[in-house]
Amino acid sequence: MSGPDSPTPISRTASRPISRITVLSGGMGGAKFLQGLLHGIRTAALPEVAPDAVVTVVANTADDIWVHGLKVCPDLDTVMYTLGDGIDLERGWGRREETWSVRTELAEYGVEPTWFGLGDRDVATHLVRTQMLEAGYPLSQVTEALCRRWLAPTWGASLRLLPMTDDRVETHVAIADADSPSGKRVVHFQEYWVRLRASVPAETVVAVGMGESTPAPGVLEALTETDLVVLPPSNPVVSVGTILGVPGVREALASTAAPVVGLSPIIGGHHVRGMAEQLLSSIGVEVSARGVGLHYGARSAGGVLDGWLVDTADAEHVDELRAAGLAAEAVPLWMIDHDATAAMAAAAVRLARPAR
Ligand code: GDP
Ligand code: CA
Repeated sequence: MSGPDSPTPISRTASRPISRITVLSGGMGGAKFLQGLLHGIRTAALPEVAPDAVVTVVANTADDIWVHGLKVCPDLDTVMYTLGDGIDLERGWGRREETWSVRTELAEYGVEPTWFGLGDRDVATHLVRTQMLEAGYPLSQVTEALCRRWLAPTWGASLRLLPMTDDRVETHVAIADADSPSGKRVVHFQEYWVRLRASVPAETVVAVGMGESTPAPGVLEALTETDLVVLPPSNPVVSVGTILGVPGVREALASTAAPVVGLSPIIGGHHVRGMAEQLLSSIGVEVSARGVGLHYGARSAGGVLDGWLVDTADAEHVDELRAAGLAAEAVPLWMIDHDATAAMAAAAVRLARPAR
């Protein structure tokens, strides 16, 4: 029994293994990180994390699009297919061994959009989702139902996937258009990314519907009733940025007792894969590991992070990040395989819980 004379433990919670981790994820970067994190937990490469720890993923849904009458949720599906071993590894999205008859038939009808390719196998997911939504189920329940096929058989109760919100929120991008009277045109994020390949500068990025959205059931609890929150190397603007934009999420991160650590999606001034560079420039953030870390900011200074990992190529940013109130370290951040990614997750855990 502890009494007034017994030594006070430095921190009871800090010596207990981590049993709950929450990850704010986009699609490909988030999913790859999650694969490495789960691999690390299973292979005991993260000694501070309990083998039966529960990982909760709060996924971005602002990439979602209604297309050909179907509700498509690219980031939810990328996480689901990746962790359910159904992803096409080469493309990094959609189903493995995909065929494209539906797309060909739609093109024969001349219906738009032709630039958004829905694979035949993938269509089944969107049909189930759309039917359930139209029957009145919220996206969170639909996602749970889809995950019974994709995640439960492998991960049981140790992995939960939550959409950031059940409400319709869509990222739109304003681009220059000489043919328009305003000189601008606003396109859905998917059109910017898939059709335009992010090849024109993004002038503004707007998450339509964000202000009126509320976090999906379980999201705020996942941020406050957890042992660790991780911002994986996902797009800071259209993945993590939109999750942080859902009213209530920033406040939950500000108040949670759990440490919040992030991993830079920018290495050596480049975005590795994707289009983070174009979008960071549109919001005036320097395309660098330092720029993104300072953009998220230290919780002690009104931001969302306690710690920030940068790649060894960006080691010179560490001092400045520390001066801004962040615990910062430089470690290899290339997700080249599960072991390398597990080592990144282990570094994130160490940053959150420095050895005492
Ligand atoms: P999306 O929704 O499919 O665009 O995926 P995310 O938003 O989750 O992640 C995309 C981001 O992951 C890209 O913008 C890259 O900056 C980052 N990324 C991809 N591969 C790597 C990697 O190996 N290491 C790091 N540090 N970042 C990566
Ligand atoms: Ca995405």
